[in-house]
Amino acid sequence: MFFDSHCHLSDERLFAELAAVVERADAAQVGRVLSIAVDLADASAIAGFANGARVWASAGVHPASALTWKDEDSNRELRALLDNPLCVAVGECGLDYVYDDTHPHYPGATRPRQVEVFEQQLEIAAQTGKAVVIHNRDADGDILSILERWRSRLRGGVFHCFSSDWAVARRILDLDFHLGFTGIVTFKNAPLLHEVAQKCPLERMLIETDAPYLAPVPHRGKQNEPSFVPYVAGKIAELKGLSREEVGEITTANANALFGI
Ligand SMILES: [Zn+2]
Ligand SMILES: [Zn+2]
Repeated sequence: MFFDSHCHLSDERLFAELAAVVERADAAQVGRVLSIAVDLADASAIAGFANGARVWASAGVHPASALTWKDEDSNRELRALLDNPLCVAVGECGLDYVYDDTHPHYPGATRPRQVEVFEQQLEIAAQTGKAVVIHNRDADGDILSILERWRSRLRGGVFHCFSSDWAVARRILDLDFHLGFTGIVTFKNAPLLHEVAQKCPLERMLIETDAPYLAPVPHRGKQNEPSFVPYVAGKIAELKGLSREEVGEITTANANALFGI
């Protein structure tokens, strides 16, 4: 069995054929899927179809959506969403320094505002005891120093779509956080990530699709979906000299423990 720990079932491309997507996942032994929110409206939509049989939910605000965070109202709304026992994580939240707020998709998402919105969500994660799903792009230094301050109050979490080098991975593992591996690990031109996958203990790894983005080889360039997550497990198995099933089992157990499922 496999656990897709990060995908976006509420994305219109997947949502348009949600029943079929979940059925294909099931047929591929992907028995559990965590559908990740990018803002609070998205989190409400996901709560509408999370069923605790195959699909679970997160709630949180992506750094690109920092402008949608209204301090008091959003705090209240996020806490209410997390009252749902099927909502097992805060996120995705974090920092994204690839684009600054001059980029059309990132209105108002200045770096200081991203930090404020991230830390307000960490406070809620600390108070509710839910795991954190971290989005990090080009912000290794800032995000690690923030988490090093917060760590003692947090349950734990995952750096989803991990794509930094082993030195960064090492600091994340020292925080007792998990690394999430996407289809990028199946790409030939990812030698640094292959090194991380070889060195990272399997007990600290999660697998994910980040669907509809980042389809693994042999579907690279196509629309991604949870049924493709076994390809990620297969590549990690090859790099570590294990069986694909072993990687599936351990990463599923890791995700179950982290999210309390
Ligand atoms: Zn992300
Ligand atoms: Zn995502």
